[in-house]
Amino acid sequence: MFITFEGIDGSGKSTQAQRLADWLQTCGHTVETMRDPGSTPVAEQVRALLLNPGVSIDDRAELFLFAAARAQLVSERIRPALKRGAVVLCDRFYDSTTAYQGGGRGVVPLAWLRTLHMQTTDGLAPTRTYIIDVPVQEAAARRHSEPDDRLEQEEMAFHERVRSTYQALAAEEPERICLIDGRGAPEQIHTAIRSDLQEVWPHNGAGTPL
Ligand code: ADP
Repeated sequence: MFITFEGIDGSGKSTQAQRLADWLQTCGHTVETMRDPGSTPVAEQVRALLLNPGVSIDDRAELFLFAAARAQLVSERIRPALKRGAVVLCDRFYDSTTAYQGGGRGVVPLAWLRTLHMQTTDGLAPTRTYIIDVPVQEAAARRHSEPDDRLEQEEMAFHERVRSTYQALAAEEPERICLIDGRGAPEQIHTAIRSDLQEVWPHNGAGTPL
């Protein structure tokens, strides 16, 4: 089982990934949590470069750096974990590239990105993806306490394009993507995610699918 969490920065996706990981562990599953870009030595170095506000990166170079970090993450961590039978939870994955580099920046056509993603992951797609949807202003207020990284510093209109690309993706791929209203309290959102997961992937308390 490979589950990804998506949304604009400050939407609460990391909070929800952690809550779901805790719950799945109490159900008896072996859970591995990861972040994209990151979670391998190479990908963490690429992440540091990508998020550094002091670095200027060409739009196309940015697109392929994200893809490079993801390719490393898939081969070094995600595939081996899935092979061991772990549930993999990943904070961001290729839908982020579609939303940010595709929708936000308009670097390349969205349709072309599907091909890039499949080549990057060698055909691996998430089993289920939760997009935590919150208004841009609300997400900005939530992350107010921390200094913005390079992508967070983009103007409001950029984040609006990212959000609407996420919404369009959810409408296009309802069998994989579940759009979650992220405006409530963390517990309420967690409950919504949990009940969706139990519906698409019924499993008992011992960690075995029913
Ligand atoms: P993301 O991973 O999407 O950037 P985080 O999970 O790190 O978001 O949450 C960003 C901030 O918002 C954190 O300070 C977190 O405690 C807070 N937060 C998370 N979920 C909610 C929520 N449902 N309502 C209010 N604040 C939240």
